[in-house]
Amino acid sequence: MARLPLGQSMARLIAMHGPISLLMWMGEANAHYYGTRDPLGAKGDFTTAPEISQMFGEMIGVWLADVWQRAGGRPDVAYVELGPGRGTLAADALRVLRRFGWAGPVHFVETSPTMRAAQARAVPEAIWHDDLTGVPEDAPLMIVANEFLDALPVRQMVKTPQGWRERMVGMQEERFVPMAGSLPMDLAVPEMFRDAPENTIVEASAAASAVMGEIGHRLATQGGAGLIVDYGYLDKQTGSSLQALRGHAAADPFADPGEVDLTTLVDFHEAAQAARAAGAQVAGPVGQGAFLGALGIAQRAASLARSAPERTNEIAQALDRLVGEARMGTLFKVMGLAGRDWPMGAGF
Ligand code: SAH
Repeated sequence: MARLPLGQSMARLIAMHGPISLLMWMGEANAHYYGTRDPLGAKGDFTTAPEISQMFGEMIGVWLADVWQRAGGRPDVAYVELGPGRGTLAADALRVLRRFGWAGPVHFVETSPTMRAAQARAVPEAIWHDDLTGVPEDAPLMIVANEFLDALPVRQMVKTPQGWRERMVGMQEERFVPMAGSLPMDLAVPEMFRDAPENTIVEASAAASAVMGEIGHRLATQGGAGLIVDYGYLDKQTGSSLQALRGHAAADPFADPGEVDLTTLVDFHEAAQAARAAGAQVAGPVGQGAFLGALGIAQRAASLARSAPERTNEIAQALDRLVGEARMGTLFKVMGLAGRDWPMGAGF
């Protein structure tokens, strides 16, 4: 049986059952989006840090190698990455880790078959899982996630004259439009926001909190360390941070489900709380620029340029994109994690 395009399925669902929650819209749209394409790079919809330069993954590898050594250099510590994209970060980080003598197993958490195929070309030895539950529980873990949490679906509440309502997606004149649901949702809104003015939107990612809780639990019980890198904010804020990207430009998040990249800013305060509550140590977050600077990315850039003088300009530009204030240096943040009896890594 031929599958209907996602937009048609969504329209049919809404016509038959009424508006659907934004949470479901975002979850279904991104599952289709990542499941059917590799969106990364100049020809795709967006470019991530590891795709800009090998230096990014190498610095992550240096950070991990340092904590791994200081924790005793156990041979069975596993590398775990969530949403590894094309596997570029992992390939660069693993090269560094192996130079330090680490030779453990590699686990990838990835749901998209298209991305899994790309990852297999970069890191053929990886073992794939749909979520963290399949990752072994018998050894410490080195966990990495870059631009993963921002792709997970969020729920939004909006303040109406009748009180708080969930933000839904409905249809008007053949177009998808955000609208307030009909069920009272006041109790689902954090108390600090309840009296906010009309039209205020409050966002929450239960999926991101659940993943951070699971990561925190694993590190607390198995030992290990972790790095979470993403764009986001430190203090609770209101407003919708939902954005859509297509061909490196902003797009309408409600126009074409499954054909644009949907993301939100990560609530780092909430992410840290979830990991801490599960027993992990948390450091930062700090700006990506400060973090990479502390690990020596400028020195790495200089050494790369010395061995390939014809690439000096390109390397300098990549360095600026990764650490520059107006580029990825401050909007992107890095959070460090450590398990019981593990040292916290450098850079915080
Ligand atoms: N970390 C990579 C890719 C970021 S894009 C990089 O920095 O280049 C987001 C990645 O997360 C993709 O690989 C996507 O397929 C994966 N992903 C998105 N939602 C997911 C989910 N719910 N479970 C597992 N992987 C998911």
